[in-house]
Formats: sequence, structure tokens, C-alpha cells
Amino acid sequence: MNAARRKKYSAFALAREALRHHRGWPPAWRDATPKRAYDVVIIGGGGHGLATAYYLAREHGVTNVAVLEKSWIGGGNTGRNTTVVRSNYFFPESTAFYDFSVKLYEGLSRELNYNIMFSQRGMMMLAHDRHGVEMLRRSANAMLLNGADAEFLDGAEVKRRIPGLNPSPRFPVLAGLNQPRGGTARHDAVAWGYARAADALGVDIIQNCEVTGFIVEGGQVRGVETSRGEIRTNKVGLAVAGHSSVLADMAGFRLPLTSYALQAFVSEPLKPCLDTVILSPATGVYLSQSDKGGLVVGTALDHYPSYAQRGNIPIMEHAAAGVVELFPQFSRVRFLRQWAGIVDVMHDSTPVVDKSPVGGLYLNCGWGTGGFKAIPGGGFCFAHTIARDEAHPLTAPFSLKRFETGALIDEAAASGIAH
Ligand SMILES: Cc1cc2nc3c(=O)[nH]c(=O)nc-3n(C[C@H](O)[C@H](O)[C@H](O)COP(=O)(O)OP(=O)(O)OC[C@H]3O[C@@H](n4cnc5c(N)ncnc54)[C@H](O)[C@@H]3O)c2cc1C
Repeated sequence: MNAARRKKYSAFALAREALRHHRGWPPAWRDATPKRAYDVVIIGGGGHGLATAYYLAREHGVTNVAVLEKSWIGGGNTGRNTTVVRSNYFFPESTAFYDFSVKLYEGLSRELNYNIMFSQRGMMMLAHDRHGVEMLRRSANAMLLNGADAEFLDGAEVKRRIPGLNPSPRFPVLAGLNQPRGGTARHDAVAWGYARAADALGVDIIQNCEVTGFIVEGGQVRGVETSRGEIRTNKVGLAVAGHSSVLADMAGFRLPLTSYALQAFVSEPLKPCLDTVILSPATGVYLSQSDKGGLVVGTALDHYPSYAQRGNIPIMEHAAAGVVELFPQFSRVRFLRQWAGIVDVMHDSTPVVDKSPVGGLYLNCGWGTGGFKAIPGGGFCFAHTIARDEAHPLTAPFSLKRFETGALIDEAAASGIAH
């Protein structure tokens, strides 16, 4: 299918196709065959890789771009995450970047002509002891100073807004920090929307194409070796999340990160009962209700580094216990599915969007447990870095150099529980 033949999604198109039994929809993107050379090759067909390709084409006019994905697009963390979008970080650098990303999310369905089901239902962090209350006050002040929206609520107001919350004294709800613009988006749709829009601008999206090595001459990248042959290029963007250190190793350098499995769960569908995202650091869980009715539950990282992309019983027990502490009425609800993704955690819980030690090889990694919310912003800034060979001002602080200078941005408190 020719990219130019792509149909605009609209109520009119939907009605027309309904009359034709939906036989006229073209594929959302082409199944491209790899060419011998590209101006830019992006490794990783997750949200970050696809968004980067889209912004390279749209913002910088660089359309001779391939996105190489070893399996299917969105099959990594992008399609495995719990879909929370927020910008309630502590440091100015983080809030500036994540809030930019939330703003891009706010216009994304329209921009991509693809419904990403962005639902700004709010994101409520709970405090169950007086230390937690102090932390929430501190975070609320930092967010407001840094230009993000934040509401500090006392326990009575939290319980008024979320009537089902457990009133028991074991984990009393003493306060809440709400970010009204936070919420959720449909994860697959974010990947598919970017893929469709990038394809329409001429980007080749190539699935089942694993990168197995780099061609480096005189310290400059000249191409990649893949399971579908060699591809020449002078610019490669790495956006492979949990496999960043594996690819860095292929290119001959190390990254200051560790990879862990991160698990999530979804319950059987319930009638609408929870209209916000709740995070409770003390119980170690966060949850929201999907549009299909399932409770989407997340918790902290597995306790040991691993590339095993699967769930286990101890973490499931922990998650279930946390949910029941918060909402005893969910005790008889059954989990339908449990899964894991491999996330790459930088030692200060802040990502890297930067050049690498190899000329022409650029890094987008270290999003750890929280890179879904960062997809639009990460793609936008990474495209700038690749096209102009310089950092975007918003991601300049997210450089590798910070591990030499000590200018770390320790966001562990904002990302301790994955979300
Ligand atoms: C359970 C869970 C819950 C999460 N919850 C949230 C949340 O609520 N909110 C939030 O903001 N973030 C969340 N995250 C984190 C978020 O999902 C990730 O940070 C984000 O999706 C990273 O996107 P990405 O495009 O960089 O990586 P991915 O989507 O993982 O894409 C990387 C791609 O690279 C491909 N790849 C790897 N090696 C190769 C190779 N050699 N050749 C070709 N392709 C390769 C992989 O197959 C993969 O598709 C969660 C993560 C998990 C696992």
C-alpha cells in the first residue's frame, strides 16, 4: 500500500466503511522491506522509537528512516505497561520534560488522527503516615513551583473523592497529592498511532528484524547488521528499553544501568468503580480501572536483575495484598492476567537522551519504570538530538556526562513504584 493512499479516520469514513462491511480500510502502515541504506536507522519499534521516527520526519524533514523491530511493534514495554501518564516529578529538569510530554499527549489523538484514548482522570498519591504527608507536601510545592498542576488534599477530602477507599486504621489515608492532568492512555494505540503517522510520512517500519551488530569504522557508525541483512547508515538511534545494555555491549561500551523485570496485573472486568489512578507507596501498589472495566495493577520492580520477561507468585501476592488493603471490597475479584516487561533503570532513575561514545550512535534509554508517559516528549527530543547532533534543551540534563560531573537527578522517590 502506498503511504499517500492512507485514509483519514473520521466519523464519515467510519459510516462509509460500515456500509461496506469494513472491507475498504487499508493497512495502517506498510510492511516495509529493508532497503540497503537509510539516512537514519532507529533500533526498537516501541513508543520511543516510533515517536522518534515520526518527529524526525515531521519536525526535521528526515524521511529516509527505518525503524527496526526484532518482533512486533509495541510488543516490548510499550504494550506491557500500566499506561499511567503524569508529570509529578520533584526536580525542575524532570518536571519541565515530563510536563512537555503530557502537553503533547493532550493533543496527540488529533495530531496523529488516531484515538489514543487519553483520559485525564487524575493521579492521586496517598500518604498513610505523617512522614508520607510531609513528602506529599514537599512534592506538591515542588510541582507547583515547577509549573505543573498539583492539589494537596487532606484525608477527608481524599475519602470524599474516592469513597471506596479502606477506612481501616492499619493504613489510614491521611492525605493525597492529586495531579488532575494525570491519567491514562491506551498503550497499543500510542505505538500504532505513531507507526501509522510515521509511515504516512515515508518512514519504513520493519518488523521481525533483529539488530545483531554494528558496523563501526574509525569510531563512527556506518551501519547495522540485522537478521535480514546489512543496512548502511551514518546515524543510528537506540531505543530498545530493557535491552539497552545488550546493544551498547555490541557497540563496545557500557551504560550505568541495570535491567529488571517489572510486573503488572489486570483483573476481570468490573462495573465502573474507580475513576482515578491511585498510588499508595506504603502498600507498594498503584491501580486504575481500564475502559474495559479491569483493574490495572502495578507494583515495584522485581528484587533482582533479570531478562526473564515473566511474572511470579511472590510479586502477585504482594500486589493482591496491597489492593485488598486499599479496597477490601476487591478481595474476591480475580486477576485475569499477569505479565512482565524488562526495564532499564539508571542509577539515578533519570533517563539518558544523548550521544553515545560511538560517533553517529545516539541513546534513548533508562526510562526504567516510567517511560510510557515520556513517549511523545522523548521522541520529540531524541529526534532533535539525532537530526541536529546536539541535545534538545529539555533533555540536555539527561546526558551521560552527569555520571562524570556528578550532576545526577535523583528521581528515585518519584519512580520508586513503577508508574
Ligand atoms: C509492567 C510495566 C508497567 C509500566 N507502567 C508504566 C506506566 O504506568 N507509566 C509509564 O510512564 N511507564 C510505565 N512503564 C515503563 C514503560 O513501559 C517504558 O519505559 C516504555 O514503554 C519504554 O518504551 P520504549 O519504546 O523505550 O521501549 P519498548 O516499548 O520496550 O521498545 C523497545 C523495543 O526494542 C526492541 N528490541 C530490543 N532489542 C532489539 C534488537 N536487537 N533489534 C531490534 N529491536 C530490538 C524490543 O523488541 C522492543 O519492542 C511500565 C513498564 C512495565 C514493564
